[in-house]
Amino acid sequence: MEKVVIIGSGSAGLTAAIYCARANLNPKVYTGILTGGLLTQTSDVENFPGFPESVNGFELMYKFQEQAQRFGAEIINDSITDAQLNPGDIHKLKTASGQEIETESIIIATGATPRYLGLDAEKRLLNHGVSACATCDGAFYRDVPVVVIGGGDTAMEEATFLTKFASKVTVIHRRDELRASKIMAERAMNNPKIDFKWSCVVEDIIGEEEVGGVIIRDLKTNTTSTINCKGYFAALGHVPATEMFNGQIAMDANGFIDLDAHSSCTSCLGVFGAGDCADHVYRQAITAAGMGCRAAIDAERYLQIRET
Ligand code: NDP
Repeated sequence: MEKVVIIGSGSAGLTAAIYCARANLNPKVYTGILTGGLLTQTSDVENFPGFPESVNGFELMYKFQEQAQRFGAEIINDSITDAQLNPGDIHKLKTASGQEIETESIIIATGATPRYLGLDAEKRLLNHGVSACATCDGAFYRDVPVVVIGGGDTAMEEATFLTKFASKVTVIHRRDELRASKIMAERAMNNPKIDFKWSCVVEDIIGEEEVGGVIIRDLKTNTTSTINCKGYFAALGHVPATEMFNGQIAMDANGFIDLDAHSSCTSCLGVFGAGDCADHVYRQAITAAGMGCRAAIDAERYLQIRET
């Protein structure tokens, strides 16, 4: 029987692990497929306090993991695939490798995965020109044109990053105003290699085996045109990885976990939420880490009350 199982190994999960381990709860962290979470796919993290010269995302998450292990957290490279939550009682989990786990408490820190437009061509051409991670795939697009879809901070960051490699970057955004923060928008808009297609949506991607271009519709003129490109980068936000808890804990319409105000408590007693799977507003490494800390403290208090 475990005291606490942490599902997910991003900044929320590993911060929860540090706190739970220091509280002698012997936490077990199930990493999921992407150990270290989404930050491992980022090159320079410029806004994590304590790193004035910026820090590589992979290195940062490796340090989180080392810190958690130093205090006794067990990091297990496996995914939780099924959950049976029993409010105030023993929860049951199953892993991809077939292990069955019983635990008094759970911290859900499963994060969120990239959203695509839902075009058939995105699936067909995934990893053949279609990507949701410029940091991972940008270097494959040297001296060729690419497009980035979206108007948020991710789109600006990816577009700016891609100018290191691509001959030209075209940002395609469905509105005529960016959602991105001013500093990141200005950085992209001042970059001579980045062009913007405003109020345009992608109707299709050209190419059977590799991306050759995109067909876009201008929503103001209702006309279509083609942009030649070799790379298609979706920067459309994220979908929370909370499906296995459907119907067992309260979530919003998009699947983000609802937390009680001023705590990390979910609607199921003994189950706590932290990080991007429970936060569609801030979604930062530092806020996720803070949420992981809260979840660990809440779990510790819950376990103390259970024992008395
Ligand atoms: P956002 O949700 O902020 O932006 C998603 C973008 O995709 C929006 O412009 C949205 O359009 C567009 N979009 C979504 N669905 C569709 C669709 N079906 N068709 C066309 N366009 C679509 O996600 P981000 O990943 O950019 O950012 C998430 C969070 O992470 C934010 O809080 C952001 O500030 C933060 N972040 C911070 C960074 C940093 O500080 N270094 C870097 C990256 C992200 P519309 O605007 O019209 O809704």
